[in-house]
Amino acid sequence: MAPLIDPFARPITYLRVSVTDRCDFRCTYCMAEHMQFLPKKDLLTLEELDRLASAFVRLGVEKLRITGGEPLVRRDILTFFRAMSRHLETGALKELTLTTNGSQLQRFAKDLADCGIRRVNVSLDTLDPEKFQEITRWGKLPAVLGGIEAAKAAGLRVKINTVALKGFNEDELFGLLDWCAKEDHDLTFIEVMPMGEMGEEMRLDQYWPLKDLRARLAERFALTELTERTGGPARYVRIEETGQKIGFITPLTHNFCESCNRVRVTCTGELFMCLGQEDMADLRAPLRASESDELVEQAIRAAIALKPKGHDFDYSRQKVAGQMTRHMSHTGG
Ligand code: SAM
Ligand code: SF4
Repeated sequence: MAPLIDPFARPITYLRVSVTDRCDFRCTYCMAEHMQFLPKKDLLTLEELDRLASAFVRLGVEKLRITGGEPLVRRDILTFFRAMSRHLETGALKELTLTTNGSQLQRFAKDLADCGIRRVNVSLDTLDPEKFQEITRWGKLPAVLGGIEAAKAAGLRVKINTVALKGFNEDELFGLLDWCAKEDHDLTFIEVMPMGEMGEEMRLDQYWPLKDLRARLAERFALTELTERTGGPARYVRIEETGQKIGFITPLTHNFCESCNRVRVTCTGELFMCLGQEDMADLRAPLRASESDELVEQAIRAAIALKPKGHDFDYSRQKVAGQMTRHMSHTGG
């Protein structure tokens, strides 16, 4: 079957699937405290998620990341992970992974490892229990740290994703770094993105440009730029003194669009060709219209043929341009 290649000659090999819009946390930069979640009938069933992800795998997707909302709060989610592990067994899928807030990892880490998952990304913005509760509103730090331990014990490699927030975790930069070195976790910083409708001021106030964060690191350490690329917005440096590899995700710069290899599907089957654009294709209708997967494959191909060149986020000139009204929990960060 011909692989998916978009109009800018980018092969699409990476799919992120959001399996739920729900979450047991309410991170302030991601959700409002009182969220209206989608009615169940709108969500793809686990079977539909399987058909959809498998169609992408047939069309050449080699890396599948499961996200949300919080993927591990979706009922019976292990059924889906187990189903996806068959694509690892055939070799069609090279990697199956997930992004999680870590709250449920104590319960799931072992089963996830048994499904062939080797790495997890855990989002963690602070190591201070009170600040953790402030930023996540509903989260409890000990449960997450316990989850990370359980992941490690199950043999999973853990990457910590930290959203860089001005005035919030600036003072923890070196503390987080030391902790990750001690625990042997990879660490990636993410620049806060203008998602959702939570007001421009808050976003701009919280915006801590990663170039500033990096400059602070460089005051203390020798940094070597790594050439490694993942097709996404991450760039890596090595800290020579500790050997740690640190990632920076700066989605607001355009430096990654030209090599973008990824698309996202929401829990309702909307295919977003670009995180920063409103254009999407509905894959739920073709999934539900027929038991065969022909229609959905056609819809995927038609959508990829429209993948835009890049996004329009722009924090310059002190205003947020290209702001998305979608929440990150909807598209699946
Ligand atoms: N609940 C899981 C978690 O927190 O890892 C998976 C979904 S969450 C939407 C995925 C990632 O998006 C998290 O690392 C989170 O920190 C990040 N995120 C959410 N809102 C964001 C925003 N406005 N800007 C940048 N990153 C954001
Ligand atoms: Fe939930 Fe993840 Fe969004 Fe936090 S960032 S509210 S954990 S989906």
